[in-house]
Amino acid sequence: MEMVEIQTWLFQIEPLERESLSHFLGRFRRANDLTPTGLGKAAGLGGAIARWEKFRFNPPPSQQQLEALAVVVGVDVDRLVQMLPPTGVGMKMEPIRLCAACYTESPCHKIEWQLKVIQGCDRHQLILLSECPNCGARFKIPAVWVDGWCHRCFLSFADMVKYQKFYR
Ligand SMILES: [Zn+2]
Ligand SMILES: [Zn+2]
Repeated sequence: MEMVEIQTWLFQIEPLERESLSHFLGRFRRANDLTPTGLGKAAGLGGAIARWEKFRFNPPPSQQQLEALAVVVGVDVDRLVQMLPPTGVGMKMEPIRLCAACYTESPCHKIEWQLKVIQGCDRHQLILLSECPNCGARFKIPAVWVDGWCHRCFLSFADMVKYQKFYR
């Protein structure tokens, strides 16, 4: 009952293709002016939202947790699962990585960039960036990617594409 009430006042947003959970949660929270704690409360998930935004999936989100989140964000559990690393596939919490060419086409952080087995973007044949190629700053967690630029030197993610090297 409580959940139904919540849904009526929350804005829903469409997940982007291959978007990671961290990036999606950040966009959802900003659309609804919620902190990680606020969203955690609304979904009955406590501190899990803040952990997930940092890609801390140990222990992995349970089916029950995903169902609770699905109700609040208005996205199916199956779709939420696509924002997570596939079962049994190792992922890196850091560094946060970026294919600037992908970001230009669809401005979001993709979950596959954090998978250990992935070194490059197979769409663009480019090696992923692990830091700003201009100033060396590490990328922040995708949940706080708002402007699409380096938080230190303001080089736009789109402009970083020219620093990306092709792999073979
Ligand atoms: Zn790419
Ligand atoms: Zn920079």
